[in-house]
Amino acid sequence: MKYEIFTRGDDRSNRVKTELLARLNHMTTLQLSDTPEIVIFIGGDGTFLRAVQHYIKRLQEVTFIGIHTGTLGFFCDYHDSELDKLLLDLPTAKKLAHRYRLLKLTRQYPDGEDSFLAVNEVRLENPFHTLVSDVYIDDVLLETFRGNGLIVASTLGSSGYNKSLGGALISTRLETMQLTEVATLQNNAFRSLGSSLVLTAEQTIVLSGQFEKAVIGYDHLVIDDGKDVKKLIVSLAKQTISIVHQNNRRYPEILRKSFIKD
Ligand code: NAP
Ligand code: MN
Repeated sequence: MKYEIFTRGDDRSNRVKTELLARLNHMTTLQLSDTPEIVIFIGGDGTFLRAVQHYIKRLQEVTFIGIHTGTLGFFCDYHDSELDKLLLDLPTAKKLAHRYRLLKLTRQYPDGEDSFLAVNEVRLENPFHTLVSDVYIDDVLLETFRGNGLIVASTLGSSGYNKSLGGALISTRLETMQLTEVATLQNNAFRSLGSSLVLTAEQTIVLSGQFEKAVIGYDHLVIDDGKDVKKLIVSLAKQTISIVHQNNRRYPEILRKSFIKD
């Protein structure tokens, strides 16, 4: 089986990489390759987001397995003190893995459109002026939103920026996306839903307005090419990512260790 290692690049992650490479050298069934079937990422959740974009063209062939070197990662199932366990699980990694659908963001502008894939969320934010955007669910107008921004989070991303904005945490086995507001105006002139909206996997969110001063981003990235974007369309993508989970890591436990008590 072909594998590659992707690290955050800090000293601790690099040390783990060196140790892992030395041990993997002895395993004849595994070969280092730049077209890997297994990507071992070392760092944190941000490292996973970067690894996914790095292998975005080969997501169907790749299974990701994460080692965290720092705070407990949502995407990193193995601590750097658990290399023995990881080496034991590697040969059956594909069987231990779960697939999750990515978010698809389509931007429409006067001379065309383009699309991007995200793990955590898609963001439309305006730090300069009130963002005004019509919000459609499928083809039905929900509201004209006024505020700092709107984000659409995946199930996996529900514990990221979405949580900081007061959105709900979603159990990772549910296939949904969630629309969450950023500092919405709520007064007698302007009003919007005021709470997060969890949608089914088949639905589509359409944001329509004048977005030239707005920041459009996804995961750790910002799309900054000056296009005169008039419409953003967000849905669950057909593309999926595959991540290895240790059998004993249950979602409520991850939540407790991450947010309540380590
Ligand atoms: P970052 O500033 O390093 O990320 C902020 C924090 O979010 C880090 O602690 C990161 O964990 C954590 N994180 C990322 N994805 C998560 C998830 N699905 N569930 C729980 N925690 C998660 O920025 P980055 O490395 O470029 O990552 C970008 C992501 O960070 C965005 O997609 C967004 O979800 C999140 N973020 C959140 C806020 C906020 O809550 N106000 C602000 C900016 C970004 P690691 O330390 O393990 O990387
Ligand atoms: Mn990070």
